[in-house]
Amino acid sequence: MKATEVLYKYNVVKGTSCQRLQNFVLGKFRLRDCKSSGIQLVVVPDGMLGPCHSLVGFLEYYQGNIADPNCDLTQFDNFREWAKRYPLNMTLYTKCPFISLCGGCIYNSYITSNSIWNEDPQICTYMCSLVKWILHDLWKKRGMSEKYGSIE
Ligand code: SF4
Repeated sequence: MKATEVLYKYNVVKGTSCQRLQNFVLGKFRLRDCKSSGIQLVVVPDGMLGPCHSLVGFLEYYQGNIADPNCDLTQFDNFREWAKRYPLNMTLYTKCPFISLCGGCIYNSYITSNSIWNEDPQICTYMCSLVKWILHDLWKKRGMSEKYGSIE
C-alpha cells in the first residue's frame, strides 16, 4: 500500500491494488479480479494456450496450440470453466462485503485446495486491510480527520 501511495501521487494506475482502488473510488463493480477468468490468454514457447501464467510450469489447464489454424478456444473446457470462475458466480462469496472488489487469485485457490472453485486463502486478510486503508486514506484526504479526528 506504501508503493500504491507513491504511484498514486504520480497518477500511475498500476497493478491490481491500484485498479481495485480506482474501482472503489469510482463506485465500479469489479466483475473479474483476475483476467485469467475469461480474458487473459497465455501462450507458452511451444504454442500451447492456457488461462494463467503461474500454471505454465505444470501445463495444467493448457489446451490447444496457437500454430493450429483450427484451434477454437471456445471449445476448450479449461477456458470455459475459468471464464465462469468469478465471485458473482460463486456461492462462497455471496455474503462477502468485498464481493464488488475481490475474487482473488484462481491459481492460489487451485494449488491450495486442488480446485479453482475454492477461495484464495490469502485474499480475505488482504482485502480487509486494503479496504480499511482506502477508507482511512479517503477520510484523511477529504479533511475529515481534522474535523472529526481519526483512528490510527
Ligand atoms: S497467478 Fe493468479 S492472479 Fe496471476 S494470472 Fe494466475 S490466477 Fe490470475
